[in-house]
Amino acid sequence: MGYLERLRWPEGPRCQGCGGSELWRMSDRALRCADCRAETRLLAGSLFERSKLPLEIWFAAAWYLTNQKGGVSALGLQRARAGLLPDSVDAHPQASARDDRARASAA
Ligand SMILES: [Zn+2]
Repeated sequence: MGYLERLRWPEGPRCQGCGGSELWRMSDRALRCADCRAETRLLAGSLFERSKLPLEIWFAAAWYLTNQKGGVSALGLQRARAGLLPDSVDAHPQASARDDRARASAA
């Protein structure tokens, strides 16, 4: 199972059509459901597909999401992106302090 797959389906691939977990691998990025025969593409219907952002940004965002215990805030996501984009350093020291506390309690 590839890195993207683990990000998208931490508990294993799921059919986009019926939610089934019996999937045949068609290629690196396509799976076919054994039940409803729907094709599930790794990037289809996700943020990755619609986004104009470089995939690396979304990898970082996805990493961030998977490392949050109680969900993620938009500000937190901004911070994750800011980490990759030094030109857009966020200017919310209060939010940063709150995030730092959240990180500390999650650790
Ligand atoms: Zn299905």
